[in-house]
Amino acid sequence: MKPHIHSRSHKQQELSALKSRLRGQAHKITGPRAAILEILRKHPHPLTNREILAALPKGECDLATIYRSMHLLEKMGMVKRFDFGDGAARFELVGEGDDGHHHHLVCTRCSAVVEIGECFPVEIEQRIGAANGFKAVTHKLEFFGICPDCQ
Ligand SMILES: [Zn+2]
Ligand SMILES: [Zn+2]
Ligand SMILES: [Zn+2]
Repeated sequence: MKPHIHSRSHKQQELSALKSRLRGQAHKITGPRAAILEILRKHPHPLTNREILAALPKGECDLATIYRSMHLLEKMGMVKRFDFGDGAARFELVGEGDDGHHHHLVCTRCSAVVEIGECFPVEIEQRIGAANGFKAVTHKLEFFGICPDCQ
């Protein structure tokens, strides 16, 4: 796979700050969990469990451990799950004090990912909510296309 393109600068977080957030939530930081956080910190795009496994030192943990860790980290609000419609859950680190809401532009040929900071005006959600009697309306959305390298 080609290196990912990124347009949005991600706030790099200190691993020590991440570990203290984990500790603050009374969860033991096992070696694998700290190693997973370090991998996510270095990769500013959503990673699948298999990609995380491939990025970890050999023998650090197995796929089942990563699966359980991601489930826990998601519940703790430390990672956000994204779905690119191919059946593989992808995870990205959530910044402190951030809800992690953003979108991606994915190349359908080479799977390159661009981070998209733009979002719908909040009025659209308010209008959709009001028209249907819903409150707290939110959305999930990913964009797909063919990147400059693949054209
Ligand atoms: Zn992202
Ligand atoms: Zn491409
Ligand atoms: Zn949005």
